[in-house]
Amino acid sequence: KSGFVAIIGRPNVGKSTLMNHLIGQKIAITSKKPQTTRNRIQTVYTCDKGQIVFLDTPGIHKAKNKLGEYMVAVAERTLKEVDAIMWLVEPSTFIGAGERHIAEQLQGVGVPVILIINKIDTVKKEEILPAIDTYRKICDFAEIIPCSALRGQNTEDIIDSILKYL
Ligand code: GDP
Ligand code: MG
Repeated sequence: KSGFVAIIGRPNVGKSTLMNHLIGQKIAITSKKPQTTRNRIQTVYTCDKGQIVFLDTPGIHKAKNKLGEYMVAVAERTLKEVDAIMWLVEPSTFIGAGERHIAEQLQGVGVPVILIINKIDTVKKEEILPAIDTYRKICDFAEIIPCSALRGQNTEDIIDSILKYL
């Protein structure tokens, strides 16, 4: 099995950290500063079950300047070129304009969207289910996986679930 998977989400949710963790190498720069990933970074994950090409994108958000516009265009174009999409969010029940904007972009993409609830190490266990329920209402997901990219919690499930859709 092989295919292309886009990693999307608002700036700073941990997209680059997760990609680095999954492939086991620090390829993409990660930082507390939003807009660290300015271009699309492509990495290849290989195992005996198959190959996944990850496309780490700049965050999708309402652009405030030319660089922002370019970065958002890169991220949005990526949605049209992949076999599956991983949408990363933080474990919160608050859906802001940023999340709504991404949900709109995902309407009718025609490929499976896997919701990754990242940074679960920052909240209590009881806060995860409500976050899942909240996101379920705004988009149709093939799967929902809570994880911590930083601590490597529950990240093995992500690869298996992606391979199912390729
Ligand atoms: P991106 O903009 O979505 O690519 O986000 P980055 O991967 O650059 O990460 C943004 C910040 O969130 C960095 O300071 C990361 O160390 C931190 N981060 C990423 N994943 C996790 C996680 O699972 N838990 C915690 N606590 N922090 C995380
Ligand atoms: Mg990044």
